[in-house]
Amino acid sequence: MSLLSVVLPSYNEEQNISNTVSVLSGLLEGAGIDYELVFISDGSRDNTYQEIQKAAKENPRIKGAEFSRNFGKEASIFAGLQIALGDAVVVMDCDLQHPPEVILQMWKLWQEGYEVVEGIKSSRGKEGLAHKLSAGLFYRIMSGLIKIDMNASSDFKLLDRKVVDVLTALPERNTFFRALSFWAGFRATSVKYEVQERKFGTSRWSTWSLMKYAIRNVTSFSTLPLQLVTVMGVVSILFSIILAIQTLVRFLTGTAVEGFTTVILLVLIIGGFIMISLGIIGHYIARIYEEVKGRPKFIISKATDNVQGNVTGAWNQNR
Ligand code: UDP
Ligand code: MG
Repeated sequence: MSLLSVVLPSYNEEQNISNTVSVLSGLLEGAGIDYELVFISDGSRDNTYQEIQKAAKENPRIKGAEFSRNFGKEASIFAGLQIALGDAVVVMDCDLQHPPEVILQMWKLWQEGYEVVEGIKSSRGKEGLAHKLSAGLFYRIMSGLIKIDMNASSDFKLLDRKVVDVLTALPERNTFFRALSFWAGFRATSVKYEVQERKFGTSRWSTWSLMKYAIRNVTSFSTLPLQLVTVMGVVSILFSIILAIQTLVRFLTGTAVEGFTTVILLVLIIGGFIMISLGIIGHYIARIYEEVKGRPKFIISKATDNVQGNVTGAWNQNR
């Protein structure tokens, strides 16, 4: 019988764990699916891990690990993918904003032979205006850059074992899970779902952390911003040719001297271009620097007994 793993990244979700466990285990047992739940506590500062341990004691199908500090949702997802043993793995939020019933649809599609099932949001649920605008802008930019429509995509997906093995074997540190499953290819399909409201607590993302997330993802997935630097260079060269001709003509006809406005504008424009370019290049150098250091994506400080192998510490690919 095939095993279904559900990976649940959780950061300060003590109020959600026990509810999520009972909802998911009820659902999957009801459907007669052999399952395991893999909770990754992302360096939570509340009792999330204790809640996971408690659940694991009651139900051996529940596994969990705790990070040594907050490494971010991407890291939690990848840790979960590495720990999961299922033939199919579903990644979902542990606040149940991703409706659990959809797992059954995904499972069915997987049994029909699909290797990637994307959860597509039919609406974005309730969000603040600022959040909506910034998320909208982020997805517009990302979709343009990586040529995949990201607006409705989410981290809610089912992946076949083959796909999980491909993704966990990637050597890169700066991953963007949402887009990587598109990148990986395989036989893919999607299911639509309605984003639910959060029962307990608030969104774990601040506008600032979303902004950092956006820049990180763009630079880890596309080199287009770097080419933008070239475009800016070309634009300023065109400007300077025109101005050079004009200046020479003025000089030769003896009407020079005037023109401080031009000088000031030129200094400002070119200065601006150069700084933006340096900034963009800087972001890429930062990514390269992080990749070159080769530090692990996450460090596991604790894990429940039913997690296979010695996973604590800086856990790398090879199990
Ligand atoms: N999360 C995480 N690490 C973080 C932030 C969030 O593992 O640093 C988890 C969180 O516990 C939740 C999921 O990622 O299960 C989505 O987070 P949240 O609900 O705060 O985001 P939203 O639903 O508002 O996009
Ligand atoms: Mg949520």
